[in-house]
Amino acid sequence: MSAFGTVFMPKMAISWFDGTSWSEAEMVSSDSIQLHPGAHVLHYSSTCFEGLKAFRHEDGSTKIFRMDRNIVRFAQSSRLLALPEIDPDATAKMITDVVAHFADEVPAAPGSMYIRPTHIGTEAAIGKAAAPSTSSCQYVLLSPVGDYFAGGDACLRLLIEDDGMRCAAHMGMVKSGGNYASALQPIMNARAEFQADQVLFAPGGDVQETGAANFLLIDGDEIITKALDESFLHGVTRDSILTIARDLGMKVSERQLSVDELVERAAKPGCEAALSGTAAVLAPVGTLIYQGKELKVGSGSVGPTTVKLRQTLNDIQWGKAEDKHGWLTTV
Ligand SMILES: *Cc1c(COP(=O)(O)O)cnc(C)c1O
Repeated sequence: MSAFGTVFMPKMAISWFDGTSWSEAEMVSSDSIQLHPGAHVLHYSSTCFEGLKAFRHEDGSTKIFRMDRNIVRFAQSSRLLALPEIDPDATAKMITDVVAHFADEVPAAPGSMYIRPTHIGTEAAIGKAAAPSTSSCQYVLLSPVGDYFAGGDACLRLLIEDDGMRCAAHMGMVKSGGNYASALQPIMNARAEFQADQVLFAPGGDVQETGAANFLLIDGDEIITKALDESFLHGVTRDSILTIARDLGMKVSERQLSVDELVERAAKPGCEAALSGTAAVLAPVGTLIYQGKELKVGSGSVGPTTVKLRQTLNDIQWGKAEDKHGWLTTV
């Protein structure tokens, strides 16, 4: 099987902003794009993206999960990066059109079609280090993906980093390329030194998130996760899991979680922790590494609540449970 995100559909939807208006969206070859080498994005990282999925249902229909939320976030990221304003309806049409074009290629469960809208500053202006790009381009790439857990439900090892930050504090809620570049060295160091899978960034002891997923602590009937603020990415999966947890009668606590509290609670039998994001939905965390010591979260293996929450969300995505919150858009 190919690695996640390395196979692309041969066409993508694309639209250009020339400083005044957006061009009519087109379907073009997805293997290249022409940019001036001085394009703003290549020098000053004026770029943001989204990640969402389309699912094939048993009746043959194709549904996109929570597209509206991803488009709101795409527009917000664009605004925070001072990129040209997107038109949410036009972006929605680009997404549904390209998915409809490749509807026959959407993998059946447990696979799906990963959708990657991207917005970049294209103005050729290397003097604009402190000024926005007046022109831009948005495109929507598609990548078919298989079962994320095909290799089994391996529990993740997280290194708790209470010193460094994932990205600049005011950039946390922007889904922008520079943030991933800034988290790369800490993640590579954690892999080399501690065989950690990910870094759990907790600057000053405030548990935030990992490089590309939100963090949830599950203690019995309660889910604890950081309340929304501008320091971290507001995951659509996080919101979906919390909504499902409330539906199941669980207590949802969106609040500050300190490293001290996390370390103390995680050791209790029956405690669970998980990472949420579109790619994996909910991935169990088995081990935390803090101040050179390893501690197991609960039993150290995947817990029943993590499995139940993930299954409930998957069932809605694949049309096996009622979509009572109206999360699915038919293509
Ligand atoms: C994309 C992302 C998430 C997860 O967001 P979803 O909408 O659930 O996919 C969490 N943290 C970061 C840093 C991300 O880039």
